[in-house]
Amino acid sequence: SSAKTLATCIFCKIVKGEIPSFKLIETETTYSFLDINPLAKGHSLVISKYHAEKLHELPDESLTDILRIAKQIAVATGAENYNILQNNGRIAHQEVDHVHFHVIPKPSTSDTEG
Ligand code: 5GP
Ligand code: ZN
Repeated sequence: SSAKTLATCIFCKIVKGEIPSFKLIETETTYSFLDINPLAKGHSLVISKYHAEKLHELPDESLTDILRIAKQIAVATGAENYNILQNNGRIAHQEVDHVHFHVIPKPSTSDTEG
C-alpha cells in the first residue's frame, strides 16, 4: 500500500512533490531521486511511497520493489563498483526517518580518467 504518509516527513513531501527533487524512477510503490548531498556522482536514494521509519516496519512486498529499483539504478549509473547502504536509527547514522536505500557509485581510477 502507498496510502500511509506523514505530513511532517521530508521524504513523504518529496513523493508528493511538495519538496522538489531530481526524480529518477517512479513506480506505483516506489520513488527514487538524486541525493542532495552526494558522496559520489550519481548517488541516489530509493524509497517506498509508504511511510515507515525503519526497514523492519516495511511490508515484505515493499522490500522487493525497492531492491528491484536499486538494482536498476545501479545498472543505469554504469558503475562497476557501488555500495547499497541502508541505515536504521540515529546511532546507525539514519538522519531521515523514512526508510531509504542509498545507491552509491564508487568511482575507480578509470572512471574518473574518462
Ligand atoms: P541517512 O543518513 O538518513 O541514511 O541519509 C539521508 C540522506 O538524505 C542523506 O544522504 C542526505 O543528503 C539526503 N537528503 C536529506 N534531505 C534531502 C532532501 O531534501 N533532498 C534530497 N534529494 N536528499 C536529501
Ligand atoms: Zn515519510
